[in-house]
Amino acid sequence: MKIYYDNDADINIIQGINVTIIGYGSQGHAHANNLNDSGVNVTVGLREGSSSWSKAEAAGLNVKNVSESVKDADLVMILAPDEFQKSIFDKQFNAKDLALSYAMANGGTRAGVLETSFKEETETDLFGEQAVLCGGLTALIKAGYETLVEAGYSPEMAYFECLHETKLITDLIQEGGIANMHYSISNTAEFGDYKSGPKIITEDTKKAMKEILSEIQTGNFANEFLDDCRQSNDGTGGPIMKSNRKMTQNHPIEQVGKELRSKMKFLNSEKLVDKEKN
Ligand code: NAP
Repeated sequence: MKIYYDNDADINIIQGINVTIIGYGSQGHAHANNLNDSGVNVTVGLREGSSSWSKAEAAGLNVKNVSESVKDADLVMILAPDEFQKSIFDKQFNAKDLALSYAMANGGTRAGVLETSFKEETETDLFGEQAVLCGGLTALIKAGYETLVEAGYSPEMAYFECLHETKLITDLIQEGGIANMHYSISNTAEFGDYKSGPKIITEDTKKAMKEILSEIQTGNFANEFLDDCRQSNDGTGGPIMKSNRKMTQNHPIEQVGKELRSKMKFLNSEKLVDKEKN
């Protein structure tokens, strides 16, 4: 185990910022007084009428009510009892109002802001991008393209049928759901959807999805990703990331796609990815 001592730490960092300690009980009074003795600028935050107020003042500390105490703070240490921390967070920091205001300025409230938790957001986000949006979709596109080309069809046709047209389909699904897409496509396409979809996404696929979710929940995915990042010598991805990027770039669908897209002038007018800007 790595153990750090005085020589490993720089006290100037904490001495250069404003620290607020919320609560002046077992932990709070020790933190506040030790930091104060070490030359740190400490403010103690307490509720109005707190029995601890006079004790903190008697120790020579600067005491304010909770909302005032955090205004100029660079670091806030919440050392009130655990059972009160939720109500302090809810009542004193206006965190939700601030977060909603931030979301509104970003345009988020136009679509709707979901109230969630770190755990739910992280696990569902990673699952969605791995199983459906990125990993699942690109694997499906490549497999469809390869099937057509291996059967003797032209790469250009395979590109259009398996990649280019995904935009129309996902736009329709996003606008009004799956039935909206079914309404717009031909009856032939709708019938084929019902008949063949379940042959592609089978019980085995769902089993694989459950395994992917479990890898995310246990932290195995995060460890694997970070292990790869640690082996990066230039900050642009480790060996697994780099070899997969190379394989993707060299896939024939990317070659034929590049050629076909160069003729689609409408794609160049308002690019989502403009390496000069983003
Ligand atoms: P504590 O001694 O019970 O702390 C009480 C202090 O919090 C008092 O100053 C109290 O002031 C203040 N307080 C209570 N409600 C408040 C509110 N709504 N707003 C602002 N201040 C409020 O608590 P603790 O034992 O130090 O525990 C603090 C944290 O340290 C907890 O997260 C705990 O799990 C952790 N911890 C404690 C120990 C330990 O040995 N005690 C060890 C490890 C970790 P008034 O009631 O007078 O207003």
